[in-house]
Amino acid sequence: MKLATADLLALVARRLRRGGMASTNARLVAETIVAAERDGSRSHGLQRLAGYLSSLDSGWVDGHARPVVTRRAAGMIHVDARNGFAQVALARAAPLLRRTARRTGVAVLGIHHSHHFAALWPDVEPLAADGFVAITMVNSRSRLVAWGGQTKVLGTNAMAFACPRRGSPPLVWDQASSAMAQGEVLVRAAAGTPLPDGVGVDRDGAPTTDPTAVLEGGAFLPFAGPKGSAIALMVEVLAAALTGGRFGFEDASVGIAGAVTSNAGQFLLLIDPAAMAPDGFTDRIEALIGRLRAAGSERLPADARYARRARAAVEGIEVSDAMYATLLERAGRRR
Ligand code: NDP
Repeated sequence: MKLATADLLALVARRLRRGGMASTNARLVAETIVAAERDGSRSHGLQRLAGYLSSLDSGWVDGHARPVVTRRAAGMIHVDARNGFAQVALARAAPLLRRTARRTGVAVLGIHHSHHFAALWPDVEPLAADGFVAITMVNSRSRLVAWGGQTKVLGTNAMAFACPRRGSPPLVWDQASSAMAQGEVLVRAAAGTPLPDGVGVDRDGAPTTDPTAVLEGGAFLPFAGPKGSAIALMVEVLAAALTGGRFGFEDASVGIAGAVTSNAGQFLLLIDPAAMAPDGFTDRIEALIGRLRAAGSERLPADARYARRARAAVEGIEVSDAMYATLLERAGRRR
């Protein structure tokens, strides 16, 4: 069946409330799930609902967390997410973050003790829509073998960038440090589709194209070899070491039945381009994009997502019967 975005949002938020989340927190997490599904980022859309519910049910994450926001220095804001979802922490800090960047030109946000189980572009796109340049990074539990390494230490550590445009939605890119995001490997495992070469290794460290072998005891490989590995390392430094979040190898969820999300950290840098480049920043961006298009880059990052978003606004969002049944379920076992 197809559902309108608002209807799907209401159903997902209700399911999360029934699964043990406070109303405001449920709404914020539902927004990121539905935004991903609407834009065709399937790896981080409805597929993730079961993981959120299972982590809540296991007691690993606190659905009622009330994040604590502290200003650490003139342009530095810190959030203790109190073991809740990162979207809740970000929403709590966003007004101060925006005010700080407007006043000083730049603001740095560090979130720790948080669970980010989503795509990152929903965190930065709204900031760019309001005229800011934003970069964010999230670390996660160890899943990736760094270049030259034998065992997994780093996460698949994602990073996203957003930049305002004149008269168009923001320029946004969002990518894992691994050759393929874990969510995409889950999609392939469910569909029984093999992976391309270079995505992962099995539990013995041997290259494999079997998604299940990567997910169950295996590990992910970085994109572009040592280059992706270096990005993953930077993300671990900024999102975990700088914020006080756990490194991927410190994640304690492995022994907890049902705990799927990573308790880690997030870094976000917000820049007001009006402070650095008061004249014609967006004109310059349009000139750059025009040149790229003229050179043959018909599809820029986020173009395809925006097209799918426009289509969903007209046609609705496809929801399988099984997912619809899950959305209507009452809460299962509660802590
Ligand atoms: P993809 O490889 O699908 O895409 C990476 C980027 O490249 C996107 O911005 C995408 O734009 C762009 N892109 C892809 N193909 C093209 C193309 N042909 N032309 C131009 N641009 C293109 O992403 P990943 O698999 O690396 O990551 C998927 C998701 O997983 C991300 O949203 C990421 O945040 C999330 N993730 C989350 C983690 C977490 O801990 N929360 C950990 C790791 C990943 P477009 O969006 O338009 O497709």
